This record gives sequence, structure tokens and C-alpha cells, in this order.
Amino acid sequence: MCLSDHALSHYKRGAQAPEIVTLSHCLPLQSRSIFISSFASNMDEHKLGYKGNDVLQDLEILTMNAKAAQELILRKILEKNHGTEYLNKFMNGSTDISAFKSQVPVVTYDVVQPYIARIAAGEPSSILCGEQIVELLRSSGTSRGEPRLMPSISEDLYRRTYLYSLIMPIMNKYIRGLGEGKAMYLLFVKAETLTNAGIPVRSVLTSYYKSPHFLHRKHDLYNKYTGPDEVILCPESEQSMYCQLLCGLVERQHVLRLGAVFASAFLRSISFLEQHWCDLVSDIRIGQLSSNITNSTCRLAIQSFLALPNPELADEIEAICSSESWKGILGKLWPNVKYIEAVLTGTMAQYIPMLEFYSDGKIPLVCTMYASSESYFGVNLRPLCSPKDVSYTILPNMAYFEFIPLEDGRKLIEDDEVVENDTLVSLVDVKVGCYYELVVTTFSGLYRYRVGDVLQVTGFYNRAPQFKFICRRNVILSVDSDKTNEEDLHNSVTRAKEILENRNYLLLEYTSCTDTSTVPGHYVLFWEIKSTCEGATPCVPLDAQILESCCIAVEEALDYVYRRCRAHDRSIGPLEIRLVEAGAFDDLMDLLVSQGSSINQYKTPRCIESGPALKLLNSRVTGSFFSPRDPEWTV
Ligand code: AMP
Repeated sequence: MCLSDHALSHYKRGAQAPEIVTLSHCLPLQSRSIFISSFASNMDEHKLGYKGNDVLQDLEILTMNAKAAQELILRKILEKNHGTEYLNKFMNGSTDISAFKSQVPVVTYDVVQPYIARIAAGEPSSILCGEQIVELLRSSGTSRGEPRLMPSISEDLYRRTYLYSLIMPIMNKYIRGLGEGKAMYLLFVKAETLTNAGIPVRSVLTSYYKSPHFLHRKHDLYNKYTGPDEVILCPESEQSMYCQLLCGLVERQHVLRLGAVFASAFLRSISFLEQHWCDLVSDIRIGQLSSNITNSTCRLAIQSFLALPNPELADEIEAICSSESWKGILGKLWPNVKYIEAVLTGTMAQYIPMLEFYSDGKIPLVCTMYASSESYFGVNLRPLCSPKDVSYTILPNMAYFEFIPLEDGRKLIEDDEVVENDTLVSLVDVKVGCYYELVVTTFSGLYRYRVGDVLQVTGFYNRAPQFKFICRRNVILSVDSDKTNEEDLHNSVTRAKEILENRNYLLLEYTSCTDTSTVPGHYVLFWEIKSTCEGATPCVPLDAQILESCCIAVEEALDYVYRRCRAHDRSIGPLEIRLVEAGAFDDLMDLLVSQGSSINQYKTPRCIESGPALKLLNSRVTGSFFSPRDPEWTV
């Protein structure tokens, strides 16, 4: 076995270290190697005390041997899981890789869902996975309006921890002195439930923040957050946000990094600060936490931050926050900050202008990783590049990766289309410039599962390909973790237009966009409506109340994640309907045809992101109406 010395001692200490998968016995490597796919499970061992150089050297070896790593991963997955009901159906208990490749079909969530439902109801994990499924991760993808649940086994936490352990060593290569201060990362947990069989259902980040891997992390120089763990774990997100901002302000001179997982959450916190800075300043001035914070664990954790009144600091913050414009506020409040970290790729790219505004374009915006509830995927090895140029290097020890080539550049493949097995391309065989849909096979029971992400290959790091995130298949609207596709939107608009039809109005055309100039951002629908009243019977005028009830009807019909973001997380604002004048959609068609759309095949786009088309519609708006209340949502 040739693990790095450090990792080796780490494993040796593991009381009940499960299998350690190393590449040393199967790779043409003379030197040491590490290939972490299963890890020690002893509590203490979570303090992955990697020295940066060790980790980066290991990453070199891993990426140089991407092909062997992938073959080994698949072999191990089949060895562990060949006895499951799912794989048995296709492979008759075989562990043969070629049988897997020729016989196991490429699937979407609908195929896996019945197995997950059975496990949730109490059937053994072994119908899907050779290991115990210890939690179901609630993904932001939905299926028929319900959240998708992804199986997870305990060793998955080690894979996630491994990916996290790469981030600071990578950042350290580019930015000096990060160990001399702290990070104000705004991290939140979400509500969790139990299935009938008692399996926890939670988000992947909640799972991680509640795990010993996070809570017992090694508190080294690079791992210091301003917010105490108790505050991060507070289930009331506004109280948690308040306290995290308070700690970040108290320690403003020590903060070197700002961030959140997704840019939407970071911006939401800044807008929260805009609303609540007076209270925060007052707390700092008198050395006492506002009585609005009722969570006792938060109150206790914050005590030491407000031990004494600090009027000087309060004055400084007040002077900054009361300035007329908040342009560049981040650099003023946190003068030593070296970068802002958040996912800014994919739909999150819509938040780049806002972040540039708050940072006055002077603080680098850094996207470090690409991950999902199904599996973590990769890291950005050039973190200081512009968010528009980010590519993620897929780590070949996270899962077994395959790719569906997309013809014509990026023509998407529908959910119900059969994907022939022999069209799949393996990780190391993807071609630079080409577009692919990502397919994963995991240790925890997903086999040739279509994640739904479309990626483009931009290059290779050693033998591991690097991908630009292009889009989520089918998603047209997204503000936070919601992902609304054309069909979801159509179904919910159809519900709402019944309200109009009952009053003799027709919805002639509609399209949509997200408006992120408000924080939180919100969905906007452009509606062109026509009266169907004839003769002497006049129509009931369309008043605000009717249109507001249409807004809420659309929201009630949108999926679980949307409604959670609206009603619980408050990360999406009330939906807006903008009525446009008669003929606006004809003009839209003329415009798009003049820009190259075929008149024969013209279809009204159901989402318009920006540009002249959006400008045109906005210039024809005759009235705007918002949802008057939150949509229904239960955990
Ligand atoms: P979830 O299912 O809630 O875990 O969300 C995972 C999905 O979020 C991925 O499949 C992507 O569509 C998206 N996502 C995660 N990380 C990134 C990233 N760095 N850039 C763009 N999209 C991302």
C-alpha cells in the first residue's frame, strides 16, 4: 500500500477503518499514491489534518491516473452492490464491467424512485445498495412536484470531506496569508424529517453541517469561521443569519474571506443586512443581543461576541452602512477581505452584477466546487479566473462518471428518450469542445443515473477532464435552489388561467423571466389577456384582486422546492404578473423573427432572459400584480 505518509498514519489510527481503496496495486506508479474512495470511520479521523502539499500531490496522482481510478471505482461499486435487487435485474449477480456497460440502462429519477420509496417505507437498503442507506438527501430537483430523494451511505461523508479538504490548499496556491484571519461564510441548515421507517430526510448541506466531519473539523488556521457552529445549526434561518452577520461585523478586521454556498444565499444575507444593520449596530453599541433573537442556543453562542459594549465599532459600522449608496459596501465593512466565494456558475450567474456592485468590482469572485446530492463532482483549479470562465475538474474518485454526447452542440435529450448504452462516453474519453449530459453511478445505489446537468469540456488537467457548467436540462426559471422547467410552468399557468376563463377572459400568450434586481429575486410572468365578452354583456373588469389570485394560483401549483423557498426559506419573493398591452406578443414574434427565428417554426419562448426581447415586453406593461400571500408548504 502506498498512501501518503500522513494519510497512512491517519488510516492506521482508525479503529474500525473500513476498506481503504488505494490505487497502488493497480497503477503503474512507483511513487506513493492515494485514492480515497472509502475512508476510516473513526470519529477522530474526521479531523483530516492534511497538509496542503500532501493533498495537492495526491490530487496530481489521482488526476494523472483518472482512467485507472474510474475503472477501480466501478469495480468496487459492482463488488459491493452486485447483489442488490436493482443490479440483479440487469446483471444476474455478475460483477463484470462489460456486463454493466452493455446491460444496465441509463435512467432518470422516475426509475429509481419506486426503490427509494420502498426503502423509505421500511424495506431493506439491499434492494438498491450493498451498504445501509443512512439518510435520504432531499435534492432541489423535483419529480411530479415532490422533491427527489437521493440515497446516501455513511462513507459518502468521507468523499464529501475529501473534496472540501482540497479547497483551501488550492486557494493557498493563489492567495497568500489566508491563514491569518477568518472567513465569514453564511451557512444554513434546513428542516429535516423522518420517513415512515425512521430514515432522516435532509439536504446534503444540512447532513454535512450536522456531521462530525464538520463539527469536529480540525480548527487549523484555514478553517476558522466567524459564526459559531451553534449559530450555523440554528433551524430558524433569519435568526441564524442575524447572528452570523453580527459575528462577522464584530470581527470585521479579521475577516479575509466572505461567502456562502450559492450566490443567492450570500446576496440574500446582504439584503438582510441592509434591512437590519441599525439593530446590529445597536447590539454592538450596548453589548447586548436583540430580544428578537429568541433561539436560546444562538443567544448563548453569541454571548462572548458581545461581552462588552463597543461604541467605537458601532460608530464605524453605522457610518459605513448609513452611506447613501451601498456600492462597494463589502470592501468597506470588511476591509481585509481577499475574495468572495460562492457558486456563480449556471443559473447563479445572474447574480454576478449584484455582487460586482456590492464589491465595486474590486474583490475577486471565486467559484470553488461543483457538487450535488447525488454525488460531489469536482473543483475549480483556477479559482481566480472570471466566474464566466470557470471550469470544474471532475475528481475521478467521487463516483463512476459517464457522459451522453449531445449532438448539434447542445440539443437536449428528453427525459423519456431511451439513451442507448453504446452511446455513453467514459470520463477520460470526452472530447474538448463537446457538450455532454452527466451520468453517474455511485456507491450508494444510483446506477447510470442522469443527473440532469449539461456540461462542455474545456480541457484536461492531467488526464481528468475539465468542464464548464452549461445548464440544467429543462430548467427555465431558477432564483435559488428551485428549478422550474417549461412543463411545470405551463401546468401552473394553466391552473391560474381558469380563474380568467371563469370571468370571460382568455390568456392569449405568456412568457416569463426571473427578476433578480429585487432581493430575494422573484418570478415574473408576462401575460397578454383578451376579453371574450360579446354583445351587450359587459365583462367584469379585471381588478387587482383577480390578478393577485392568479399569482397565488400559479405559485400554489409550482413544485415543492419553489414553495419551500417562498414560504419557508424566504429566498424567493412573491410572484409577479405583468399585464402587457394587446399585440405585445406579436411584436415579440416580429422581433425574434427579425433576429433569425424561423417564422414557420416560431414558438413563443417560455422564458426570456435578457436583451431586446425583454426590453420590448417591459415597455408594453400596463399593470403589475404580486402574490398577496405565501403559497402553502409543509415540511
Ligand atoms: P441539489 O440536487 O440540490 O444537490 O443540486 C445540485 C445541482 O445544483 C447540480 O446538479 C447543478 O445543477 C447545480 N449546481 C451545483 N453546483 C453547481 C455549480 N458549481 N455550478 C452550477 N450549478 C451547480
